[in-house]
Amino acid sequence: MTAQIIDGKAIAQQVREQVAAEVAKRIAAGKPKPTLATVLVGDRVDSATYVASKQKACAELGMGSVSHHLPADVSQEELEKLIKKLNASKKIHGILVQLPLPAHLNEERVLSLISIEKDVDGFSPINIGRLAQKGREPLFVPCTPYGCIYLLEQAGVPIEGAHAVVLGRSNIVGMPAALLLIGKNATVTVCHSRTRDLPAVVRQADILIAAIGKANFVRGDWIKPGAAVIDVGINSVPDATKKSGHRLVGDVHFEEAKEVAGWITPVPGGVGPMTIAMLMKNTLRAAELQDK
Ligand code: NDP
Repeated sequence: MTAQIIDGKAIAQQVREQVAAEVAKRIAAGKPKPTLATVLVGDRVDSATYVASKQKACAELGMGSVSHHLPADVSQEELEKLIKKLNASKKIHGILVQLPLPAHLNEERVLSLISIEKDVDGFSPINIGRLAQKGREPLFVPCTPYGCIYLLEQAGVPIEGAHAVVLGRSNIVGMPAALLLIGKNATVTVCHSRTRDLPAVVRQADILIAAIGKANFVRGDWIKPGAAVIDVGINSVPDATKKSGHRLVGDVHFEEAKEVAGWITPVPGGVGPMTIAMLMKNTLRAAELQDK
């Protein structure tokens, strides 16, 4: 059996086109341009690259973006002052604080200050708390897990009643992905670094979401035949055939797993492009919520 490859790049492009069309309609109707404020602290190259891609996506979709770059030694007080200013600004619809923050800053407190109507990353404790409670709706869902569920739905993978196994329990991917799957009526097992006999647990998965950050960790013989495999991992491995000397692979051994799975996402070109597409969708939603 060869798995159906879920083309995240194409699905993300469709989401972006839908968002761009809605943005154009809003602007034609005289409504404000959805605008994202990005807050970057310090000089991590990876964080700066992510923020730049988010701003570029805003421009491509006709949305606005305002960038705030603070020095690595900014005080908690200064950062909080900025968040409060952005919360109060009528011109800003979404606020994104690029994580991780430098160690001296209290990330939990910063995220809890973001107004829930502008929390387009979905990390405020209120949005996450609502996601974790039955019958409550968060205003925003974290972008990467939202992208994972969107890919499953677009591929036509049945979620209700399925046994979903989530590898990883981070605040940004594993845990919210598990909560979303429970909300879609899957039966969910969450695995982490202390899980015993991981291959045996993974073999029970009708749906596997892998988010641990370990190259090619999940082997083909761990996969239940016909399962849907969503690979969130982004890992750089040496590759002498590439000009850069490396290439990106996921947490799942793609070549082995695709022979067993029913559906699988590639890396790159699977979950990766969905994260920014869902951020754009959330930013549009934030503007719509603030129209009211
Ligand atoms: P974290 O490092 O925050 O979390 C990793 C999780 O994996 C932890 O819960 C950890 O367990 C678990 N884990 C680590 N080693 C093992 C193991 N040997 N067996 C079982 N579980 C293990 O990572 P993130 O969630 O931030 O990211 C995960 C991956 O997803 C990374 O490769 C990252 O680059 C990628 N990513 C991709 C995104 C995208 O847009 N496509 C966005 C965000 C992340 P424990 O809790 O016990 O420590």
